[in-house]
Amino acid sequence: MNHRLPVLVQTPAHSQVAGPLTYLCEQILLPGTLVRVPFGKRETLGLVWTAAPGGGVAIDADKLRPIAGVLDAIAPLSTHWQQLVAFAAAYYQRGAGEVALAALPPQLRDLNTTQLARRLKRQARLTALVLPENQITPDLIAATVEQTRAIAQFDAQTGPFLLFGATGSGKTEVYLQCVKQLLTRDPSAQAILMVPEINLTPQLQARVKERFVPLYGEDAVVSMHSGMTHPQRLASWLAAHSGAARIVLGTRMAVFASLPRCRLIVVDEEHDPSYKQQEGARYSARDLAIYRGRLEGAKVMLGSATPSLESWHHSRPTAEGGRYVRLEMPSRIGEGALPLVRRVDMNHQPSKAVFSPPLLQAITERVARGEQSMVFLNRRGYAPVLACSACEWKSECPHCSAYRVFHKIDRTLRCHHCGFTERVPRACPECGNVDIAPVGRGTERLEEHLAELLADVRRPGNESIAEQVRITRIDADSTRLKGELEKQLAKVHAGEVDVLVGTQMIAKGHDFRRITLVAAINPDAALFSSDFRAPERLFSLLMQAAGRAGRDAKVSGQSEMWIQTFYPGHPLFEALKRHDYPAFAAQQLKERQSAGMPPFSSQALVRAEAREQDIAQGFLVAASEAAQDLPDAPFVTMYPAVPMSIQRVANIERAQMLVESPSRAHLQRFLTAWHAVLHATRQSPAGKGVIRWAVDVDPLAI
Ligand code: ADP
Ligand code: ZN
Ligand code: ZN
Repeated sequence: MNHRLPVLVQTPAHSQVAGPLTYLCEQILLPGTLVRVPFGKRETLGLVWTAAPGGGVAIDADKLRPIAGVLDAIAPLSTHWQQLVAFAAAYYQRGAGEVALAALPPQLRDLNTTQLARRLKRQARLTALVLPENQITPDLIAATVEQTRAIAQFDAQTGPFLLFGATGSGKTEVYLQCVKQLLTRDPSAQAILMVPEINLTPQLQARVKERFVPLYGEDAVVSMHSGMTHPQRLASWLAAHSGAARIVLGTRMAVFASLPRCRLIVVDEEHDPSYKQQEGARYSARDLAIYRGRLEGAKVMLGSATPSLESWHHSRPTAEGGRYVRLEMPSRIGEGALPLVRRVDMNHQPSKAVFSPPLLQAITERVARGEQSMVFLNRRGYAPVLACSACEWKSECPHCSAYRVFHKIDRTLRCHHCGFTERVPRACPECGNVDIAPVGRGTERLEEHLAELLADVRRPGNESIAEQVRITRIDADSTRLKGELEKQLAKVHAGEVDVLVGTQMIAKGHDFRRITLVAAINPDAALFSSDFRAPERLFSLLMQAAGRAGRDAKVSGQSEMWIQTFYPGHPLFEALKRHDYPAFAAQQLKERQSAGMPPFSSQALVRAEAREQDIAQGFLVAASEAAQDLPDAPFVTMYPAVPMSIQRVANIERAQMLVESPSRAHLQRFLTAWHAVLHATRQSPAGKGVIRWAVDVDPLAI
């Protein structure tokens, strides 16, 4: 007797098959059960799903095939987990199979039933070995008044919560105490703690382990991020899925962790763009956390010193329609004052100066006092462009509408979009002139330049061996090798660095204790960007960066944040000077409201790629014309198709179209209905030559 079983597999993106396939099976299996199934000539991982309306389809239209095996050593994924996946797939306009399988650890897909059984046995042995022996309670830090109040409010209400706390106000401590309270009260409860980037996990991981391993054992805290090996990820996933892990610490992927008893989800630095997945199913882990919390009855706490305008708006007073509870912690721990913001008017500085004389002076003084400074610039490499002094030649990428960046360290020109790399030519490829020179600067050149400027400055200390200033650069290039970032950060923490140069990578999250000066070298570009979110991103980046300074009152009196700008009177810098996020947010929200932009409307972008721009745009135009008859079309504005800001990458032309509606529900229904239209348009003459298309719901960059 054979049953028909709906099974999700990882169907290629945008194949017509978005729902489950049908297989045969001798027994009835619960939805959520993991199985191996034949798929074409291969065997692949599948997930038993609830039957699709209409009965589902077979992969080979004429004959149903039996499943190949059941991974019955792993408990089926919970109904809640399945609902989360189903919601994410529907909301972000992707196939459930794609979302579900991408949410599982890669090794689960790669191992067959026998290999997996072996792994599980090994895991069980490991778990048995590390049972906690010493039940010592670590010394708890006494919470401050503000922390105590936030924790009490968290305890008394259901949330969701937005913890609005200044940088260095002790938000992490609040998360940890809330987690502790929860785990103590409920011996099977589990929590997810999310951070935006892997490079922030080591420090937090150390803090979390220090706190909880003595209480619950080595296994209680597991990590989930893309920097882990596949076996590590599988081990973490299994520990969470079995309930052995009490705390899952991870990046955005952790929102999909399978937990039998998820009771708390914390999203630290909730404003951070890296919570939005930028390929495949473009989900927002922050938004899914809110959904998941409601689904499973878990409390959700978002935290930030500069919340996203969406979350800030949601946390307005209930009387005005707010849905989140705002918890406020305005003061820094231990009297550490927020840095004094100083704007340098670059209109009045020597015209070629990269470091204005007063900034250089201030850095020099810090070095002499044995304090650390941090200088950041959002551009890596030596120079963004190389140009010929005799003709028009510039280091354009032959494959993209972008310049290749000059990296001096290995004398290459590298395209940061397609990766195309060449040695720097000895002479201009166009006219043979040997005088080709870097234009503009990135962190590599900034570091070199600063070293020249500070060459004669000596650090204090032993008179006989006066030492040179120690400068370190941290960016994606300097930390490419595994372990390099940790090593460099450790040097900073240990005080072996005087000036830290880097990209925004150093501006976020790190609990540096000795930095007393932070400088933004050239932040102006974002003031005039065509992207309406650019000011929000700039403000939060500068606030975050400022937050790296003066975190320890014992190290310095007054710390400083320096802004070099040609627009010192800009309202964004005025608000920054007062550390006044609420004022900045109010002004931005007012603008957004009058322009009908998020959070006062919902948006989606449809992107298309083709060899020629006309084809990509033509497809979008045809699909939008065909959408006019959809029931929700009157509630949706469709903007013209335009080239993306980087129009061509790796010889592919890219176009996009914005769709917007004041109503999220209308937009959702419209997108769902439009999906079939887009598929049909792709198959029509208007779709000829289109390489791929995709929908990005709630896009972050426009
Ligand atoms: P945030 O995440 O808000 O920037 P952190 O949680 O990193 O701030 O806290 C800043 C510093 O203050 C950390 O070094 C932390 O150990 C310390 N800290 C936090 N809470 C307390 C407290 N109640 N008493 C003493 N130190 C604290
Ligand atoms: Zn030339
Ligand atoms: Zn390129």
